[in-house]
Amino acid sequence: MAPPTSPLLAASTPLLHAEFGSYPARGSRFALTLTPQALHIQRLRPKPEARPRGGLVPLTEVSGCCTLRSRSPSDPAAYLCIYTYPRGRRGGRRRDTRTFQVDGAATYEENRAEAQRWAAMLTCLLRGIPLPRDGDIHLELLPRAPRLLLLVNPFGGRGLAWQWCKNHVLPIISEAGLSFNLIQTERQNHARELVQSLNLSEWDGIVTVSGDGLLYEVLNGLLDRPDWEEALKTPVGILPCGSGNALAGAVNQRSGFEQVLGIDLLINCSLLLCRGGACPLDLLSVTLASGTRCFSFLSVAWGFVSDVDIQSERFRALGSARFTLGTMLGLATLHTYRGRLSYLPATVEPASPTTTAAGPSLPRAKSELTLVPAPVAPLAHSPLHRSVSDLPLPLPQPQPVCTSPGSPDALPNGGTPSELAGDWGGAGDAPLSPDPPLHSSPGSPKAALLMPIPEGGPPAPDAAPQPQGAPQVSSFKGPPDDLLPPLGSPVPPDWVTLEEDFVLMLAISPSHLGADMVAAPHARFDDGLLHLCWVRAGISRTALLRLFLSMERGTHFTLGCPQLGYAAARAFRLEPLTPRGVLTVDGEQVEYGPVQAQVHPGLAKLLAGPAAREP
Ligand code: ADP
Ligand code: MG
Repeated sequence: MAPPTSPLLAASTPLLHAEFGSYPARGSRFALTLTPQALHIQRLRPKPEARPRGGLVPLTEVSGCCTLRSRSPSDPAAYLCIYTYPRGRRGGRRRDTRTFQVDGAATYEENRAEAQRWAAMLTCLLRGIPLPRDGDIHLELLPRAPRLLLLVNPFGGRGLAWQWCKNHVLPIISEAGLSFNLIQTERQNHARELVQSLNLSEWDGIVTVSGDGLLYEVLNGLLDRPDWEEALKTPVGILPCGSGNALAGAVNQRSGFEQVLGIDLLINCSLLLCRGGACPLDLLSVTLASGTRCFSFLSVAWGFVSDVDIQSERFRALGSARFTLGTMLGLATLHTYRGRLSYLPATVEPASPTTTAAGPSLPRAKSELTLVPAPVAPLAHSPLHRSVSDLPLPLPQPQPVCTSPGSPDALPNGGTPSELAGDWGGAGDAPLSPDPPLHSSPGSPKAALLMPIPEGGPPAPDAAPQPQGAPQVSSFKGPPDDLLPPLGSPVPPDWVTLEEDFVLMLAISPSHLGADMVAAPHARFDDGLLHLCWVRAGISRTALLRLFLSMERGTHFTLGCPQLGYAAARAFRLEPLTPRGVLTVDGEQVEYGPVQAQVHPGLAKLLAGPAAREP
């Protein structure tokens, strides 16, 4: 991600400073200072607060902003509205709109220019748009709004994905002024097929709203394409609405947010998504016994972890609690599995795994204020680029979801559009017509977006050029596996081999195995490593439970458990010697038998927002 400002600009450098009034007007006055990291709000009148509440708004808690104007033509003030998501007393995030009256000049035009300067600066900081060197900032400098394709699995998690998307995700990305189109998946592998036929140049990102399984489909769909190399340049994002939300947990941790679950995790990830910024994401190329190859961004698991994952499917209604219950049941019937684990050790050791510790509405008086459209540069774009304001959503039943750029609040059905007028993006003072309620329609985005998929699935991919040294992947798209011998051949001499009775084997790429399971606390999205963890037979149930409980904070490597093993590797092979068992790739069950994988460093791009600053 491009740094939002020059690296020489300190986090505390004031970029803008002004005195504004409050809205609703109660005679209060505030001094506002915007720095690259935060908005500082100091009350000046009636008197400075001894312990100001909400005086420091970190930009990590801001989704976006807009400018407003009074309905009364005689009011020369402009209004600056900032959408924030501070943590409430109980720790959960709640939406809080802060509106300021920009009234330093005599005329509305001058005040509007000032409000827009603030909005433009704030948008630049939020989206990581470099600031102009001369400091002269105005809206025309902003690039067009990023366009996102959201794929929602209505059955994700407890079946709440669509509701959570509507109630939490869409408001936030509308406040951020992002343009999006939304498709609900209709069946397993639907997303995988969709991305194979997308015109990817239309999109700045493909975002899944579900658990890890839907992103697995999207990445594998991109890798199925003949132009997979180019296709993988399209960043992908994840908004956690599933029961397994490991990648979202890792995104959340990377940004410096505290570990949270449920709606709070979804809000954090939505805020991060709006910040833009894609980081490289390692993928594992996994070859199964039949020679089938798939790509994993998360994990290959065998034994206790995969048993719990698959057996807990029947408790899906419990959401992420299904894994806790599954773990308890798994402990009661603990199995061991004999197998041979071989790996190519990473030459550069990573940091030791033991070192890491692990709403309310818009201004209520709609009759007094006029909402200004979000900072989307006027753009002549194809109908596929419709922003939310003109986007019919493919809902099962017509429902008023009603959001619009800069107007995240649901307008009541039959609202009073004549009260609304816009002045951003050259719309002048012309009244805006209301955003139509978003509902299913025959011309759903799906129809407009996609080439038809022939009966029986997408066309077979063209034969790939024969990758040297990896004959077993010759008919597949994606990069050749230069580190892997064919599954039937012995591993090279520089590999390490263990033959043991195992309780579990886990090869994990990012840090998290679940939203609150930090299996490899030192892992990074692009460290080029797969982190092999295993537990040998002989561990007591209590010790295994302790391992899993301490995984919540990522402190399991500090317990000194003699059965716990770890190696940083670039490739591995697992040959199960116990005839029956469960293997999973990214939480999805795959054929049981010998399996091997290698890391492809930074093969994909992940929309993860800015990383926390190193201490
Ligand atoms: P969860 O974390 O709740 O399991 P996932 O995103 O992993 O959520 O999705 C679970 C499974 O549902 C995945 O295998 C995915 O491919 C599949 N899936 C996606 N869309 C649909 C749909 N519309 N109906 C049924 N299954 C779906
Ligand atoms: Mg899943």
